[in-house]
Amino acid sequence: MLPERTHWAAAPVFMRTKTRQRPVIRCLTISLVAVLLAGFAAIAIAGDEASGKSTTDTPDSGSQKTHVLVVVGPSEHPPGTHEVAATGRLIKHLLQESKRIDPPAVSVVSQWPDDAALLDAVTSVVFLGDFFPPTRMENKSRILQQLDEMTQRGCGIVCVHFATGLAKHDVTPEGHHPLLDWTGGYFATRCEHHQSVAKIFESTIEPAERPHAVLAGWKSFRIHDEPYYEMYFGPKETHNRLIPFATAMIPPEAPRQQLVAWGIERPDGGRGAAIVLPHFIRNWLDPNMRTLILNLIVWSAKIDVPSEGVDSQLDDLQSFQTGTGK
Ligand SMILES: [Zn+2]
Repeated sequence: MLPERTHWAAAPVFMRTKTRQRPVIRCLTISLVAVLLAGFAAIAIAGDEASGKSTTDTPDSGSQKTHVLVVVGPSEHPPGTHEVAATGRLIKHLLQESKRIDPPAVSVVSQWPDDAALLDAVTSVVFLGDFFPPTRMENKSRILQQLDEMTQRGCGIVCVHFATGLAKHDVTPEGHHPLLDWTGGYFATRCEHHQSVAKIFESTIEPAERPHAVLAGWKSFRIHDEPYYEMYFGPKETHNRLIPFATAMIPPEAPRQQLVAWGIERPDGGRGAAIVLPHFIRNWLDPNMRTLILNLIVWSAKIDVPSEGVDSQLDDLQSFQTGTGK
């Protein structure tokens, strides 16, 4: 079932754009130029303003650009699986080549940036890697602190496949971790109370029933992959904050409807999203999966999802790969 409208989600509380305006002098008279050239700029401008010439505020368009930061965390998976660096390059290409959206700026990094100005400019962070990358990178606590500050100003967070992963030692004994508040759920790796499952099989990924912008432009698809199930979504009373994007009746031997892609609208005004696919990089060739993932990234960055979904073309996946899986 495809949605029919373009503005599904409620208008965000948080407004991303900061319109920094800068006065410019629209007209300069020949005499002013002459005076400037003669080295009497200050006197000339004062004289010009005193004469009643108008000035105009123009927006600094550079400060309004949506900026997606793709963080490629460590991964030890063999070629063909995960391939997080290639996936980062691919996501950047797909977002920037889309014709239906105003393409965001996209930075792909393998280390958490030191550049405070870059972090300030980011509207959504997409994580790829084995486990939630900040938990496996240097200066973990500083990264988590900075992410916390970014989410408080409404920055989006997206986790793809194993980047949803947390281990027992990452979470409190009750299973809490900030990632729960940022995206709504995680893949619990050998946690005592919560155990998610990673298995490879064929399944059908279905769009959620509740209309949402992220459902635009893709339909139910069969896929041979590793759709995690029994994800941990926090205490039951918090589950109503989840916005379902896609479900699957899995695993095949004991099918139960499982949430495989979802989002949340956080109280800070930001958006979080996650998808448990794909394990195999070749599955990016599936146009339905591709649109689903691009839609949820775009939604997290507060770009309007086009009514036909984010368009993408991918004929040559190999051109993004190195052959080494890195
Ligand atoms: Zn995997």
